[in-house]
Amino acid sequence: MNVFVVNCGSSSLKYQLIDSETEQVIAKGLCERIGIDGRLTHKPNGGEEFIREDAMPNHSQAVAYVLEALTDEKHGVISSLSEIDAVGHRVVHGGEKFANSVVITDEVITAIEECNDLAPLHNPANLIGISACKALMPGVPMTAVFDTAFHQTMPEKAYMYGTPYEYYKDYKVRKYGFHGTSHRFVSGRLLELIDKTETESKVIICHLGNGSSITAVKDGRSVDTSMGFTPLDGLIMGTRSGSIDPAVVQFLSEKLNCGIDEVINILNKKSGVEGISGVSSDFRDLDAASIEGNERASLALDMFAYRAAQVIGSFTASMNGVDAIAFTAGIGENNFKIRKEICEYLGYLGVILDEKKNAVRGEEIKISTDDSKVTVYVIPTNEELAIARETVALLQ
Ligand code: AMP
Repeated sequence: MNVFVVNCGSSSLKYQLIDSETEQVIAKGLCERIGIDGRLTHKPNGGEEFIREDAMPNHSQAVAYVLEALTDEKHGVISSLSEIDAVGHRVVHGGEKFANSVVITDEVITAIEECNDLAPLHNPANLIGISACKALMPGVPMTAVFDTAFHQTMPEKAYMYGTPYEYYKDYKVRKYGFHGTSHRFVSGRLLELIDKTETESKVIICHLGNGSSITAVKDGRSVDTSMGFTPLDGLIMGTRSGSIDPAVVQFLSEKLNCGIDEVINILNKKSGVEGISGVSSDFRDLDAASIEGNERASLALDMFAYRAAQVIGSFTASMNGVDAIAFTAGIGENNFKIRKEICEYLGYLGVILDEKKNAVRGEEIKISTDDSKVTVYVIPTNEELAIARETVALLQ
């Protein structure tokens, strides 16, 4: 089965065509600057990259160009659209309505629309992608895979905020959590690796990328996670502040003489390790600056590892123990220094890192020693493959 996986942003569209039997990526690519001018980068597996710069006034046009590229005589990988058997859409917010992926129907579209105010930048873009694909591939089954769904198993005590209860009842203000597709994928794999798919288990998944979150997974189900009502909460990230005292928002709004929306924009886009270091949001740049003696870059890296270790500690307490920890995503998979720094805080749990094994980048490997009380793995995430697998499972 060929599954077309679509991840629509407000001005971008990422896609992969995946053969679900071999789990190979047949082609992948990205449309950027939708609504501005338009640029498609298309990469067939084993073939040459193809770039098309053409007007993309909307997502429908972007999808049309992608479908043209997929079926193009020269750069294409399929001879006609009939070779696309299903479409899997990443959808950011499923609110409390979706605890699992679903086949898209008119009712599902309405329910996703009802979650729009919880993710006003993302869900409308995801819906545009769904309607563009529906228009161009009528009759092809489509699924929605939600970033929030995996965390719907969190207990009330973990997802409720200490605000008046009416705000939860009336406005659904609570912790939702994100990166659920990655946390589900990596925790599932970790349980296989430690041979605990059928038994009681307590694991912690550290998805550390430009956006970062950590999830506590008990018996295969998310029981707590570091992101909250929005992806701004929790860890310090590339440009996001993570958790701060909410009173800072009002204080900064007065000092900067700007609205709360501008302060939130600063906390989302100008904070995190970039804001602290003044160097970059990219950890490769921070590592290089830190080696050259840039103290603020070193501080940003220290703060990142410290906060991550704190969250791991608090989730270990929540679950009353932890069997295994996995690192994933850009930083988690590639940055051995950060992994080492985080694991050094976890000595009290009996974590012992095998420094030689920890020197890897981007491959699945156990990085703790055999006598470490907690097993630590690097497990590359693959959200597109996870979406393709869920799509096939739903349609079969
Ligand atoms: P993500 O959002 O998962 O793509 O992660 C982005 C972060 O991962 C950036 O801060 C990068 O520095 C880091 N990263 C990605 N690839 C590598 C790599 N090959 N080596 C070191 N760091 C990497």
